Amino acid sequence: MSKLAKVFVFAEHVDAMRELAQGAAQLGETTALIWAGDKSQAGGTDTVYYLGELSNERILEHYAPTIINLIKTEQPSLVLVESSRKGRLMAGIIAAAMGTSVLADAAQITVDNGVVTQRMVYGGAALSTERSTAPTTVATVSAGIFEATDTGKAANLVEVPFIAPAPTVKCLERKIKAGESVNLRAAKRIVAVGRGFTSPEELQLAEQLAAAIGAEVGCTRPIAEEEKWMDKARYIGVSGVMAKPELYIGIGISGQVQHMVGVSSARTIIAINSDKNAMIFNQCDYGIVGDLKTVLPALTAKLSK
Ligand SMILES: Cc1cc2nc3c(=O)[nH]c(=O)nc-3n(C[C@H](O)[C@H](O)[C@H](O)COP(=O)(O)OP(=O)(O)OC[C@H]3O[C@@H](n4cnc5c(N)ncnc54)[C@H](O)[C@@H]3O)c2cc1C
Repeated sequence: MSKLAKVFVFAEHVDAMRELAQGAAQLGETTALIWAGDKSQAGGTDTVYYLGELSNERILEHYAPTIINLIKTEQPSLVLVESSRKGRLMAGIIAAAMGTSVLADAAQITVDNGVVTQRMVYGGAALSTERSTAPTTVATVSAGIFEATDTGKAANLVEVPFIAPAPTVKCLERKIKAGESVNLRAAKRIVAVGRGFTSPEELQLAEQLAAAIGAEVGCTRPIAEEEKWMDKARYIGVSGVMAKPELYIGIGISGQVQHMVGVSSARTIIAINSDKNAMIFNQCDYGIVGDLKTVLPALTAKLSK
């Protein structure tokens, strides 16, 4: 695959920065990160363009004129943007300033007569391919598309002078988000639960198995969104987390495409389901047909030894 001359990364979180820096290295001859916040966390690219600290008086959006000026000066071929809420906002601002549009939620990016992205449509049932031939392409990138590696400090750190925005939005208050902090994207082993579980108490069976094998617990969307038995950060799939574990055990999960695309990169998939015709059995490496209430205690007991 041919490479682009200059690929920029814009991320607001360290995990995404590491993933996108790796992607930039695959796609570009030279790479640069645009970073605001803790300077000591920035790295992984040839250059870091450091914007400054974030505070209530200076939120990420306030850096938009600074970033636009930088991009117009440096003319990168591609800007990879973290697909977070603020990332998507900045992608739109950058693209509008560069007279182009955003290639949204890329699940794959290649270089072939321009920048070619693929993204999931129809709830993950199909892929849409888009090509940009703009001088500067802006793409938001879904989490887990590139392998995150700690690629070390940048050779070159450039402090970018702040350009004050005209009308500003002021941050009035910051609050710690209620709920759990879990990073399923980084988990090596995942035990995932679905609607085969009939009560929150029954989830303990999966939690005990997860504890025995050192796994994180994930779930399907209905368990988080409808039953609300688990935090939304734990649901896997096209509209949740895209995970890449070495081992995924799906229990009481039917295997709908919207869930399974979230573990399509798992190295080994094990399914436990009482219905021998469940779709998940067509997508797993090993399957156990049985009632989770019988299978899980037996499996946990064996694996705890
Ligand atoms: C636009 C869109 C986006 C979506 N995005 C996502 C997403 O990101 N992630 C996601 O997960 N879903 C998503 N969904 C929902 C998805 O289509 C499925 O509805 C969902 O994944 C099904 O969840 P489930 O497997 O837990 O439940 P079900 O499909 O109800 O399956 C339950 C399974 O449990 C088995 N079972 C029942 N009792 C037992 C028992 N005692 N022991 C063992 N097995 C048992 C049953 O045989 C069945 O196979 C999305 C849907 C749409 C339309």
